[in-house]
Amino acid sequence: MKKINDARKDLDQLDNDLLDILSRRIEIVRHIGEMKSKQGLPVLDVQRERALITRILEKADQRNLSQHFVAQIFRQMIRYGRNAQESILAPLANESPVVHFQGARGAFSWLAARKYFSVRHTDFRMAGAHTYQEAIDAVSQGKSDYAVLPLENTLAGSFHEVIELVAKSPCSIVGEEIIPVDLCLVAVPGAQISDLQVIFSHPVILQQCARFLGTLDGVQTQPHEDSAAAAAKVHEEGLKSQAAIASRHAAELSDLAILKEDITGVGTDITRFAVIANQPISVDALLPAKTSITLSLPNEAGVLASIVNAFGQRNINMGKLESRPTNDGSGLTRFYIELDGNAENDGLKEAVESVRKIARSLRVLGCYVDREKLESETDELLARAVDVDPDPGAVELQSLPGKAPAKKDSAAKKPVSRKSNFKFDSQPSGERSIVQVGNAAFGDGNFHVIAGPCAVENPTQLDLAARDAKNAGSVVLRGGVFKPRTSPYSFQGLGWEGLRLLREAGDKYNLPIVTEVMATEQVARVAEMADMLQIGARNMQNFDLLREVGRTDRPVLLKRGLMASIDEFLMAAEYIMAQGNFQVVLCERGIRTFETATRSTLDLSAVPVLQERTHLPICVDPSHAAGRKALVAPLARGARAVGADSIMVEIHPDPANALCDGPQALSGDDLKALIEELE
Ligand code: PEP
Ligand code: MN
Repeated sequence: MKKINDARKDLDQLDNDLLDILSRRIEIVRHIGEMKSKQGLPVLDVQRERALITRILEKADQRNLSQHFVAQIFRQMIRYGRNAQESILAPLANESPVVHFQGARGAFSWLAARKYFSVRHTDFRMAGAHTYQEAIDAVSQGKSDYAVLPLENTLAGSFHEVIELVAKSPCSIVGEEIIPVDLCLVAVPGAQISDLQVIFSHPVILQQCARFLGTLDGVQTQPHEDSAAAAAKVHEEGLKSQAAIASRHAAELSDLAILKEDITGVGTDITRFAVIANQPISVDALLPAKTSITLSLPNEAGVLASIVNAFGQRNINMGKLESRPTNDGSGLTRFYIELDGNAENDGLKEAVESVRKIARSLRVLGCYVDREKLESETDELLARAVDVDPDPGAVELQSLPGKAPAKKDSAAKKPVSRKSNFKFDSQPSGERSIVQVGNAAFGDGNFHVIAGPCAVENPTQLDLAARDAKNAGSVVLRGGVFKPRTSPYSFQGLGWEGLRLLREAGDKYNLPIVTEVMATEQVARVAEMADMLQIGARNMQNFDLLREVGRTDRPVLLKRGLMASIDEFLMAAEYIMAQGNFQVVLCERGIRTFETATRSTLDLSAVPVLQERTHLPICVDPSHAAGRKALVAPLARGARAVGADSIMVEIHPDPANALCDGPQALSGDDLKALIEELE
């Protein structure tokens, strides 16, 4: 006995530790949310989550833990994190709000309200209303800050009454919440299904359970204002002949026993709720958003088609379109429409304004975060990650272009670990991937220039070079701080001090920075300070280093090895992507041939070949290929002509005295002239 108690104590301690860790995790996630907000980075970082999930599941496997259950736990943690970040990017105004819901404690609206507000506020008060109208009035009259009301259910359809009431009120929709609805038949303990004479619940819930109720002979149904109140009534009256259909929570709160679970019999049944407030909110453009509108239209041929077209032509999806007769003798039909997109987006605004001209009346009910989109990406990733490929030989190469048939490399075919069983799609079919570095999107069809000194030498040299890079129109500042030099006696770079200078210069001139990492131990720390990590030519097949940068969430500039074939180059990219980091820019920088007139032979044919064989953006480094200043511009022109997405050029304010690669460095003016010519 003593032993069991000891073990239980250990378990309690571990559970406390888990809670501490969870609380630390959510703190960090919130902090990241704040940084994302400042830097304009998206909340949905699919690549980062992919990497996280792959890593976690691999580790779970090494510890003999069930990947299935670990995936479930992480699914909830990532969801929690996203909700927390959403609350930073689409903040609600009040610190300790009052939230109205329809029904009693334990009602589904209560569960939804609790789920929504518990990530946003440590302190909020909930109040039940008898009717939807009462909840809306509480908000519009300023007695309450928010109301949480049901919008639609997968089985019963839309809650038209709620939509109508919100439309008529001065309130706006500011959020949505989705909860699974597990409907249980609940009665006083000891009651049997055969005892029942009457079942109470909310009318929509009774409708959802019609099939089950039809199987009960001689049992009446009686609509009640909500499911939790129905459960409370059954408890108060204490009769074995009565039951309610309600949530498990409501049963617990009313001390009732569950006679039957999942009585809809269809598995997942989901209800979506609207959060309404007195004032609309604006949703950060980084989050997936929805905009709800209501409008009324005359009953004439072609009018609805013109509305649908107005959105369709602007590529705006209508997630929902519902109609209701107005019944007020006006002959108009009212529509409720949910649009995928942000109310502040120009295209959406324009579409709404053009529809306003056709409609008799139109009201934007609100713009809010698309909860399903926010959560579904993670779920999909997890589902796919735990879904072990039935054909372990089939490994998809991540860098293949979507269009090309997935070519299987014989070496890659051999599964070396369970990791190779995880099948992730390559990028969307036929599309080139875009790698975002600061404001520059490599692969977006524009031509970008990375420029900066070969090495960071001192504050003045770097400041002048950064200024010149910025003035000339470069979008990323380069600078080596760990230098791979052929001779150990040459300048090796300023190391961490150099990185600090580079970061400062990047911040001063508002340029993201890229710098080379040479050793695995440097990677995490450099990734904290640099916006992009460079893998130098000499390290293209340093597989540990490739894996390490693959574990970060930083874009990687991967330079082609001096003696590497295109196949080997792509396989190096594959090493990075296999760890979940898909943000790879390939850089052709010349290869070693018999030719000695140039430092390396710039393989411009690699550019179109790579374009055939990968969706990744391609950069060309004319400086290291040329080795001489005079050749840089012609090679850069060539790179642009053959279709490179970007070039990387070395510059120096005083090339004659450069500590590294002076002969190939352009001056600021040279760079300016070159960029002007290329644009
Ligand atoms: C560099 O870009 O600083 C560099 C050393 O280039 P590479 O690795 O291509 O020689
Ligand atoms: Mn160099």
